[in-house]
Amino acid sequence: MANALVFIDNPGAALKKSSLELLTLARKLGETAVAINGELTDDVAATLGAYGVATIYQPSVEDLDDYLVAPKAGYLAAAVAASGATAVLIENSPEGKEIAGRLGIKLNAGVITDVVGLDADGTAHKSVLAGSYNTTAKATTPVSVFSVKANIVETEPAGAATAPTTAKVEVPADAAANAARISSRTEKPASGRPDLSEARIVVAGGRGVDGDFGPLEELADALGAAVGASRAATDAGWIGHDAQVGQTGVTVSPQLYISAGISGAIQQKAGMQTSKVIVAINKDAESPVFEIADFGIIGDLFKVVPQATAEIKKR
Ligand code: FAD
Repeated sequence: MANALVFIDNPGAALKKSSLELLTLARKLGETAVAINGELTDDVAATLGAYGVATIYQPSVEDLDDYLVAPKAGYLAAAVAASGATAVLIENSPEGKEIAGRLGIKLNAGVITDVVGLDADGTAHKSVLAGSYNTTAKATTPVSVFSVKANIVETEPAGAATAPTTAKVEVPADAAANAARISSRTEKPASGRPDLSEARIVVAGGRGVDGDFGPLEELADALGAAVGASRAATDAGWIGHDAQVGQTGVTVSPQLYISAGISGAIQQKAGMQTSKVIVAINKDAESPVFEIADFGIIGDLFKVVPQATAEIKKR
């Protein structure tokens, strides 16, 4: 009987790093099953085997993506019943957190969000107040639902690979009854850069870029990084709102966060202060961003950033 169930939504051709992190953590809790939504390719199945997954569940219906999250919670509730899982691990994205909440209600399960660590007994370490503190929490219900932040664990395949069995899960007929159906979508052109929320390196710009993200994009591409922004930059229309890091944007926790032309307001810090290493570039030596920076460069970003890019490209 599975102890942990990991939800993997639309993996595409290969599993995202955040999914591999969930699988790595789940193994600590015991036998792992996966509930997948979307196509299960041979490569994805092989990777799941490499991560020690015992069972892969798939929904009996193919239209879960035609709705907002409610039917996915219905699917997961059915997958928990099928697997006997006592822990469910979901990505800590806005959608993941909504699914976790809905699933918690369906299963009468304790829900712990913003998880940054999990012990074998199901004790969770949870980031609170935008990463200012970590707390420890354990649900007292038979099933626990965890939404887990990205970049909190090194991904690690299992010692011995498994050959997972696959099984269909009957999605309750009423799962979509009261759900909002998506009427249209706007596809974002692919940037070729990693997902902001799970990138290992983020290069972020603020009002100081003065409308020109070009130098930051070049640095990001040299480093294989995602591009982020302060709200001042997104509000000015210099970059899309999906690049906004902060209290009302994306929360990131990369290995390296390069902040350029950002003053470090509390709402910006809320989204990036758990980054492992913070490098700040700002021409104002008194800027509050230097209070949270591990390395500070006082200077004009239009001089500093191209120099850094040129140096990195030489290596
Ligand atoms: P500024 O504060 O204007 O700072 C620009 C910095 O660039 C300055 O420090 C300046 O010295 C430096 N600079 C200028 N030119 C150069 C140059 N050539 N080279 C180097 N440095 C230069 N903000 C967010 O970021 N994310 C959020 O999610 C968010 N949510 C919010 C929610 C609420 C409810 C509210 C009220 C505010 C929120 N904000 C958020 C806005 C936040 O308060 C700040 O206004 C915003 O973060 C400021 O952006 P900034 O640092 O780019 O701009």
